[in-house]
Parts: sequence; structure tokens; C-alpha cells
Amino acid sequence: MKEHTRVVVIGGGIVGAAVLYHLTKLGWSDVVLVERKQLTAGSTWHAAGGFHSMNSNPNVARLQAYGISVYKEVEEISGQDVGMHLTGGITIAATSERWEVLQYEHERHRVFGLESELLSPEEIRKLCPIMDTSNVIGGLYDANEGHIDPYGSTQALAKSARMAGAEIYLKTKVEDLVHKPDGSWTVVTDQGNIQCEHVVNAAGLWAREVGMMAGVHVPIVPMEHHFLISGDIDEIAEFDGELPLVLDMDGEMYLRQERNGVLLGVYEKNSTPWSVGGTSWDYGASDLLEPRLENIENELMRGFERFPSVADAGIRRIVNGPFTFAPDGNPLMGPVRGVQNYWSCCGVMAGFSQGSGVALALSQWMINGETEGDIFAMDVNRFGTFATKNYAIEKAQEFYENRFQLLCPNDEWPAARPNKVSAFHDRLQQANAVFGCSYGLEMPLWFAPQGSEPVETPSFRRSNAHEPVGEECRAVREGVGILDGTAFAKYEISGPDAVGYMDYLFASRLPDVGRIRMGPLLLPSGHLKGDLTVMRLAEDRFMVIGSGYLQEFHMLWFEQHLGDNNVRIVNRTEELSAIAIAGPASRELMSLVASGDLDNDAMPFMSVQPMNVGIAPCLVARLSFTGELGYEMYVPGTYARSLYDHLLVAGAKLGIRPFGIRALLSLGMEKSFGIWSREFSPDYTPVMCGFDRFVDYGKADFIGREAALADRDTRPEHRLVTLEIDSNDADAWGYEPIWHKDEFAGFVTSGAYGHTVGKSLALGYLKTQFLDSTELEFSVHVLDKRRPAVILPEASYDPGGSRMRS
Ligand SMILES: Cc1cc2nc3c(=O)[nH]c(=O)nc-3n(C[C@H](O)[C@H](O)[C@H](O)COP(=O)(O)OP(=O)(O)OC[C@H]3O[C@@H](n4cnc5c(N)ncnc54)[C@H](O)[C@@H]3O)c2cc1C
Repeated sequence: MKEHTRVVVIGGGIVGAAVLYHLTKLGWSDVVLVERKQLTAGSTWHAAGGFHSMNSNPNVARLQAYGISVYKEVEEISGQDVGMHLTGGITIAATSERWEVLQYEHERHRVFGLESELLSPEEIRKLCPIMDTSNVIGGLYDANEGHIDPYGSTQALAKSARMAGAEIYLKTKVEDLVHKPDGSWTVVTDQGNIQCEHVVNAAGLWAREVGMMAGVHVPIVPMEHHFLISGDIDEIAEFDGELPLVLDMDGEMYLRQERNGVLLGVYEKNSTPWSVGGTSWDYGASDLLEPRLENIENELMRGFERFPSVADAGIRRIVNGPFTFAPDGNPLMGPVRGVQNYWSCCGVMAGFSQGSGVALALSQWMINGETEGDIFAMDVNRFGTFATKNYAIEKAQEFYENRFQLLCPNDEWPAARPNKVSAFHDRLQQANAVFGCSYGLEMPLWFAPQGSEPVETPSFRRSNAHEPVGEECRAVREGVGILDGTAFAKYEISGPDAVGYMDYLFASRLPDVGRIRMGPLLLPSGHLKGDLTVMRLAEDRFMVIGSGYLQEFHMLWFEQHLGDNNVRIVNRTEELSAIAIAGPASRELMSLVASGDLDNDAMPFMSVQPMNVGIAPCLVARLSFTGELGYEMYVPGTYARSLYDHLLVAGAKLGIRPFGIRALLSLGMEKSFGIWSREFSPDYTPVMCGFDRFVDYGKADFIGREAALADRDTRPEHRLVTLEIDSNDADAWGYEPIWHKDEFAGFVTSGAYGHTVGKSLALGYLKTQFLDSTELEFSVHVLDKRRPAVILPEASYDPGGSRMRS
């Protein structure tokens, strides 16, 4: 066994093997994998081995498609048979709602680079003659789906890595991890110690235990999962070909061929978290759990109805095995904040669809310092301290039970809520708020009319929120509205070296004292890393504002670039509340309650100053995402309730009205303001998204400068544009294709109805060849049909920005 190496990957399941292989593929060969028993000794050996490239997130879909291509690659390199069955896969629809959504997905696959096909029930039966299609409306077919041998594929990855220089130590259990002062690690195993630069937690079912060895809480829980293997079925034996992988989401089941029978798996509503207190070191290799037939009876019955010959063939074997789920079902991947050189690669619920994609992204991150494209959906830093053990259990169970449920974009799931609430949550409840949840915090989405249930109907079309949101928008445009901004992330960065540090961190010029600037963060590749608002409170003290769900993501980045600087970085998000008011009457309201001079000269647009508002000491910033005159007040949470009340009482005569996130997004959309994770993300560069106007290209140095200069001088493939869509019942949600006649011209990133301008609007990336063609006719496929669209030359509301500067 080596005593020194660059990376120790802990865990020899499909994920650990894929990480080992990708580290070597990307150029690091001094790497080892340590496995306590033999390869596949965790969830991997139980698995049904099914894989698909379809995913509702385009970057995850891209990585899944890549991962499928890796199986052939490692089979060729290693000579190890991976047992590939590229049968194609069909997702069937047995309800009209599901069918509408599948058709919508099919359209959006154009954006994801996936080539799917819609099938009729007759076409489905040809591919899968054992299916009862009597109530099937149609299906979505993807040729790039199938199943793989879990053992063979893991071995092939491992062998390919070995051939490139990696070493694998079996029957070697990691017992402890010791972090050394220089950031490197001693990996303590029962066979001796290994010194290394990086450790990767790919310990699957034991990831929580391996996390604790480094003091890292891993918010996952294993869930029991069943599939059955049927007896032989004559129709299959006689069938010329192999059955496709079938996903019957309405029936909460999946099926694939297994020899002359089938493997039928179910996601039962009556789910069972497993070993919530921790996974025993004795579990593994050939252990299976006792089947709980009583829990899966309903789903099995539906399976037998869908595939009658399976019922006749009988059950040959039932497998009940555990595999891990993060609260939202996505992997937990990437560097762990506060624990240098410790990498998470666990919670990979669909290891055979996602293992290699996750491993590629992780290896890029470790070797190049960044991933290719936006992988936030899988980033371990999307969770923070709110994702406690019990939170993880409740959420994972909810995810498991609803895995195949038809999900609308405005669905809000109830488990583990309320968790965090703002200081004036009760006031929002009294105002009949409908809440959403972000980063564990309840946020008002919109306010239902008094006397009605504060509940939103899940829908892809305009919901019962449409009219109330319109009223909230009008209140802001015509008078004054008040918004709970508790969710905003607030970081204070100060100290003797703060200016130099900030100047290098941000691509923009730093604001003068008392002023505010937009602050893009760039990756070394010149792609976006952040879209923050920088407020300068003193020569060496800044308040930086961002989206609350990105707290760990931002803090990690800030800390990774701290170096020897004498700088203090404090995340004040939990401690500070924020309340925003916006609208033409907001200055009048402020004049009734605030201590300072509010004139345009004394407090111009994009300025910030401490002020008493009511009786609360606030930091008041003059800006608003609504595009109106507006103020944001940052105040210690203990004052927030009284401040909110004060503003409501004083604002009563001005007709003040609370508004929620939906109205905020609609108002912002009218101004063509983009948001993070939609218009802005590591997928895009400043020139693509228009952030070049904030970048100070003349600055001596900042992260990503060289790449940013190249970006400035190159015509990008796509640019961000605003679209007006001719639609009277539904608005775009994101990733809808934009067409020019029948030519694919780009894609939508987000959409909303603009209540002031009375138009369905969207933002999206258009191929630059179409940019100068505003007279061209475009269309956008929203929900069930292509709808005519035009590119707007400027924001649909107050393009000059006179109202927010007024
Ligand atoms: C019944 C069932 C059906 C499934 N069907 C599918 C499917 O069709 N498609 C799909 O994509 N996924 C499926 N899955 C899920 C799939 O099995 C998992 O996503 C995948 O196996 C996770 O792999 P892993 O490498 O992360 O974890 P694991 O397979 O759990 O591997 C972790 C490894 O780490 C080792 N280890 C842990 N701690 C230590 C330590 N301290 N020292 C050394 N070694 C250690 C363990 O021995 C183990 O070998 C299924 C799972 C089950 C249970």
C-alpha cells in the first residue's frame, strides 16, 4: 500500500470507481481507492442497473448522457464486459396531464441536446408487447436508455483507472481522517495510514459515517427499495428483440427485461427510511433486507395490471435493498466548506445514470478548480445547517414517495416545514400569504384574497395566483408595496486588506463609500460565479447582498480566495432581516418614518446609509429589483417585526400592500432583469448575459480577467434577450425552445406575465446570428404549442430607468 498519494477515494461502489477513473482520465494518476470489502459492497450490488439521460435540468441531463457513453469507453479500455443493454426507454402517460407534460418535455429536450420521440400506444405495444396500453395515451421514447450490469460496470471503471496508474486497496477500511495543519490528510485505515492531499467521500451507504470522521454532517438517509424478478414469460421468450426500460410514473413503477422475465421496481407511498441512526459496518456484500410486501402491495397490483403476464408468471425473487437520498434526491457533490481538500461525492441516488457524470464534474472541479457548466443542482453547498438529520429524513422520504409524481413548476412540497420563518411571519400569515420555501426559510410567494384558502393550485398554466399577483404588481407600480427580504444573503466583509481582497474577488469596480454597485464574480474561465450587490459602508467595510439559497456557495468562494489577507468575512444572513418597500410613494413613506435626508441629492439611486426607521436602527439602501423607486432596509432580526408594523401603519394612508416573490419576479421581468440560476450562472459569460457593462476590464487584476478580456473580444454563440410571447393562458417557465420558422434559435431561461404591460414575457438566450433580426418572427413552445414571439429591443417597462432613479 502506498504511504503517500494525491487523492484517496473512499468507497468502491459505482460512484467511487467512476471518480477514480475520471481523475486518471483528466490527468491525475497518483490516486488510490480504498474499499473496506470488495468493489460493489454497498448499494451498488443490489441495483437494477437501469439508466436514462432524461432529466429536467439540462446540465444534469448532459452529464447523464455523457455517463452512459463512458460504459462503452471503459469496456473498450479494460476488456471487462459491462453488460450493456441499450434497449431504449419509454416513459408512458396514462393521464392527459402527464401526456401534456411529456410532450412539453419532448420539446424541451431540443434545448438539452437530447433526441427523444413521442410514441402512440400502438407504437409502445410494438416495443413492449407485454404492456396493457388500454389507458395509455402516449409515451416519450429515448434511445439512450437501458440497463447495465452493476458489477461489470464498476469493475470496468476500476480496471480502466488501474490501467492508467491508479491503485485500489480492497479489504481496507478507512477508520479515521486526520486533517493536518497544511490542509492535507492522514487517512487512517485498518491496514495502515496513507498521507494525501485530497480525500473524496464516495462511501455511499456509509457516507454519513465517513463524513463524521472529518466532522462533516452529510444530509442523506438510505431508503428501502424493492424490485421483483418475475418467472419466465412466453411472450418475452418469443419476442424478437429486448423490451425497453419502461417508466410508468402514474403507476409509480419501472420495468425492464431480465432474461425471459422482467424486473419490476416500485416507488411505494408507504416508504421506509433505513438505518436512520447510521449504517452498521457489518452490513454489506450479500445482505438483503426482509421484503415488506404489505408496503408495496398497491404499487405491485398496479404493476400487474399494467403488465398482466407478470402476474401470471409469478415472482421468482424479491429484492429489498437500501440506497441513499439527499433531501431533494440529487447528489451531494463538490468541496465541503470549512474542510479544506475534503470532497463530497455521495447521495448519488441513481448511480448508474449519474455516477460518471458526477465523477467527471468532481474531477474537473478538483483538477481545474471549476466544473464545466452550472452543476449547482448537485452541489453539496446547496444545503446548509438547516439540513439537519431530521430534516434530511423527512425530505428524503417525501422525495422518495413523490419521485414519480407529476410535478408542476409552482408545486411546493410540505415536509419539514415550517423550518425557518422570518421575524414577522405571523403578520404575513395574517395577510394570507402563500408561502414557498428556500434554503429552509418560509418566504411569501403571493397573498391570497382575504377569506380564501392561501393555497396555490399546481399548474403549468396561470394559476389562481395570477390575479392577486397582478394586484400586488399594480400596488407597487402605482403606490407602495412591502416585501419580506429576509431570504436575501448578507455578508459583511471588512478589515485592513478588504479593499485589495474585494478588488481581486469582484470583476467590477468597487463602489465609493456610501454607494452601491453590481458586483459580478467570475470563474477563472471567465464564466459567471456570482451576481452580487456590493455596498460600501466605510473605506474598509462592505456589505454584500445575494440570493439566500447561495450562502454556502458564496461563502466557500470568498473563503477559498482569502489567502493571507487580513479580512473578516461574516455571513450575517440569519442575524439580519431585510424589508423592502417599492413604488412611487415609497419616498413619501420613508419620509414619515426615517431619520435621514431622502432627497435625491442626499440619497441618490444606488446609495446606502445607516438610518433610524421608526425606532429601529437600519442600514437603508436605495435600490429595487422592481424597477421603481425603492428602499431596502437591513435590520437585526429582533427589530424586524416592529419595523414591519411601523411601515404598515405609516403606509396605510398611502395604500401600502404586501407583495411576494411572484410579483417581484414579474416586475423584474418587465425590466428585463435576470436572476441567478436562470439568466445568470456558470453556463454564461459577461458578454452573453450583458454583465460586461459591470466588468471593469481596465482593472489590473481580478479572478477571470484574462478570460473576460477574451470574452469581450469574441462574438458569443448566444446572447440574452427579452421576448414577448403571444399567449393568453400560460407563460414560459424555462428551457422552452425558441424557433425561427423551423430553425432552433435559442432557449428561454425564465418567463412571467408582465401585469403592467399586459404581456407574457420571457428572457432567454438567442443565437447571435438572429440578434439583428428583431423584425423576424419567432415562436416559443410554451406547454402545448408553439406561440408567436418577438424579440424586444429593450425592456418592456421604463427602459431608461427613470422611475427607479426618480
Ligand atoms: C434495490 C435497488 C435498486 C436500484 N436500482 C437502480 C437502478 O436501476 N439504476 C440506478 O442508477 N441506481 C439504482 N439503485 C441505486 C444505486 O444502487 C446507487 O445509486 C449506487 O449504487 C450508489 O453507489 P455508491 O458508489 O455511491 O455507493 P455504494 O454502492 O453504497 O458504495 C459505497 C462503498 O463504499 C465502501 N465504504 C464505505 N465506507 C468505507 C470505509 N470507511 N472504508 C472503505 N470503504 C468504505 C462500501 O463498502 C461500499 O462498497 C438501486 C438501489 C437499490 C438498493
